[in-house]
Amino acid sequence: MTAALPTRFCSGCLADLPVDQFRRRRAGGEARESDCHACHAEKMRDYRKARRAGNLIAFSARIRRESASRRVQAAAAVIIQRLGGPQAFAGAMLEQFAASAAGSRQRFNVLRAVLDLVVACEQPATDADRAV
Ligand SMILES: [Zn+2]
Repeated sequence: MTAALPTRFCSGCLADLPVDQFRRRRAGGEARESDCHACHAEKMRDYRKARRAGNLIAFSARIRRESASRRVQAAAAVIIQRLGGPQAFAGAMLEQFAASAAGSRQRFNVLRAVLDLVVACEQPATDADRAV
């Protein structure tokens, strides 16, 4: 039986890839890394470079910051895809906004979610650019 492999989003490149493109966390275990082979290799290259240069603290701070944003981006990519694309996503957010009362906490949260998403999606691009 050869069923198509399930896919998952890489937290590095945000591509939707078959699960066999993700390393297992432990040999024989089920859990897999959140980044694909290529992204994991790149992260490890950066890690070794930082270790050689003695910049491990700066490196781990960058990874923490980047992976938090990447996780938000990957989650957003999944949601946007499931809703049927960016247009449908924007429509759904607008619908939520319109459905909540003016000045309500819920309306504020809709705007906040969009803003958080924009911030998460803008931040790492500039960090990554600086790192190159
Ligand atoms: Zn990747």
